Amino acid sequence: MTPAETRRIGLRLENIDKRYGGLYALRRVSLEIEPGECVAFAGRNGSGKTTLLRIAAQLVRPSAGKLTFSPAPNQSERATKNTGFVAHATMVYDELTAEENLLLFARLLEIPEPSQRVESLLRDVGLFERRDSLVRTFSRGMRQRVALARALLHEPSVLLLDEPATGLDPQGVSWLAATLRRLRDADCTILMSLHGESEISDVATRAIRLDAGAVVADTRNGASLHSILTFANA
Ligand code: ADP
Repeated sequence: MTPAETRRIGLRLENIDKRYGGLYALRRVSLEIEPGECVAFAGRNGSGKTTLLRIAAQLVRPSAGKLTFSPAPNQSERATKNTGFVAHATMVYDELTAEENLLLFARLLEIPEPSQRVESLLRDVGLFERRDSLVRTFSRGMRQRVALARALLHEPSVLLLDEPATGLDPQGVSWLAATLRRLRDADCTILMSLHGESEISDVATRAIRLDAGAVVADTRNGASLHSILTFANA
């Protein structure tokens, strides 16, 4: 699953606000994320983690401020082509099988030899034996595995994960941690929201805490990973 030809991509968020009516989901967020960093975002419910990931995935526009990728995508290439996003609610079709879901997205993403790529990912996520089952019949953890496989289809340079361990059994968590470690070591830039410390947070190279939409701690400014990840849980 190591990207054959990883394009190292960094992100810069400059003074980003996201308002919903009078509510600031994000307030003046400025961050420089280097290519190959694996950043864990911590913070209480409602602190803005999902909003930040959705902005980075370009699913939501900021109300103010600017998001840029470096290097900037070529004119012919959409920036979203380089990103993979696993949302909190898994974005997979219930009435399709695991294999049909992945083939559909592989074709949308114009992946060469989609059948082979899909087969290899189904094996990776441990769902090859269940490839012909409708996703509707899957457990939360199995659906999460399909969603993760979907996000990895095009070997993204930037991977965005909203509470990726949700619903996974211990085996699934270990698989996810090993996968993220491999991607990180291949210079994939990873942004993920997490609650507390786990095998997944062990992969992080940086942690950032949000509170009421603002960045209040960052290991870059001297805070420890442990204090950022556990404070959010308190
Ligand atoms: P977290 O992921 O840290 O739990 P979110 O980013 O989901 O936080 O939410 C941050 C704040 O923005 C919350 O107060 C939430 O209610 C609000 N919010 C998020 N999305 C919307 C939306 N589509 N409409 C209105 N308010 C929203």
